[in-house]
Amino acid sequence: MSKIVIVGAGYAGMMAAAHLDREGIPFTIVNNHDYHYLTILLHEAAGGRDDGEKYAIPIKEVLRKDTSELVVAEVTGIDKANRVVKTSTGDISYDYLIYSLGWVSEYFGIKGLKEYSLSITNLDSAIEIRKHIDNQFQLYTQDGDERHLRIALGGAGLTGIELMGELLDYLPKLCKSLNIPWEKVDLQCIEAMPTILPMVAEHLRPFVVETYTKKGGKLRTGTKINEVTEGVIHLDGGETVEAGTIIWTGGVRANPLLSESGFTVDRRGRAKVNEFMQSVDDEVIFIAGDSAWAEDANGRPYPPTAQNAEQMGALAAKNIMLRERRRPMEPFHPRDWGTLCSLGAEVGVGSFMGVPIKGVMGALAKEGSKAKYLWELGGMRLAGNRSKYVMKL
Ligand code: NAD
Repeated sequence: MSKIVIVGAGYAGMMAAAHLDREGIPFTIVNNHDYHYLTILLHEAAGGRDDGEKYAIPIKEVLRKDTSELVVAEVTGIDKANRVVKTSTGDISYDYLIYSLGWVSEYFGIKGLKEYSLSITNLDSAIEIRKHIDNQFQLYTQDGDERHLRIALGGAGLTGIELMGELLDYLPKLCKSLNIPWEKVDLQCIEAMPTILPMVAEHLRPFVVETYTKKGGKLRTGTKINEVTEGVIHLDGGETVEAGTIIWTGGVRANPLLSESGFTVDRRGRAKVNEFMQSVDDEVIFIAGDSAWAEDANGRPYPPTAQNAEQMGALAAKNIMLRERRRPMEPFHPRDWGTLCSLGAEVGVGSFMGVPIKGVMGALAKEGSKAKYLWELGGMRLAGNRSKYVMKL
């Protein structure tokens, strides 16, 4: 049997691993910690909805057969010529590789942004955001400096809007506990484009603006961030925003290991794959999730969403099994379930199977999508064990 190695235990890597595990096919999965976290729920941890730990699932809780091996190590390179994954704990050879190391923040070369902003890149950084905000509000009670109560989010895509919803739920409670008047808090989301949430139907966007404005948040569109210095955002046109908390939610790019390892990449650093999720540079390497530059029939790249990552990961595992059995591989034709954006715990907006959705129904659909994912990953057992931690019904 060929040796299969998966790098990265995000949505794509875990879904590939779960498929191989179910079939009892041996493989090694390499990840920098021994848990899988629910990336698309990290705004909940950052916004204080729940303890961060609840969004982590031990990898061995999903992969229970002894045919799988977990290596906890940092992947540092891919040596395609020798079919070796380089890691912090040594080299691991492979016959097939599934590369799914996900994304990093995209800073677009904006000066000072990386140094002086927080971002939701992993579970630890999400927890850090909540602690940072708690600390800033505490500081306000000591020195009365209102900059501690200003939170600026850069970018009104799904991450920025979902985080803002969480903060609008959490901050009033934090204010109450510290005796801070809510009116003093300034929470603003700064977006360069003329509109928020381009992936949500245009007629639903005013609902988001109305919901957030009523709760006391500010959505600023057509406002570009040009530079960030310590505690200060510099906007196009010269205005500055002084804020104790600056969070960048302005975009993602693939892990730079791909370009460093000589793969053919697009402008977001994603490696080009064919319809079977095989790297165009090496047929024994399958690339899945936010790392993959896969195109639809019209030549448009698939967006880096969790639902695409899950389906890519599952297909990569399946195609390796088919190839091993000398059977034709299957092309990537993902099912589009729609896009759901939570606006805090109780409302949401988006579409589900082509039907526009907003309000409480949006929140319920979002909660349902969490159970669906857990069920797909680990069947009834995982959904039963974990739903109580991540669902709020
Ligand atoms: P994004 O690229 O979707 O949105 C970033 C926003 O930042 C854009 O609207 C962009 O115009 C804005 N921006 C960029 N530069 C700016 C600047 N200099 N000043 C002000 N604004 C600026 O990024 P994201 O929201 O992090 O999402 C990344 C990917 O992850 C997307 O594909 C998204 O669909 C996916 N995602 C999905 C979910 C979900 O399914 N619920 C949640 C989060 C993210």
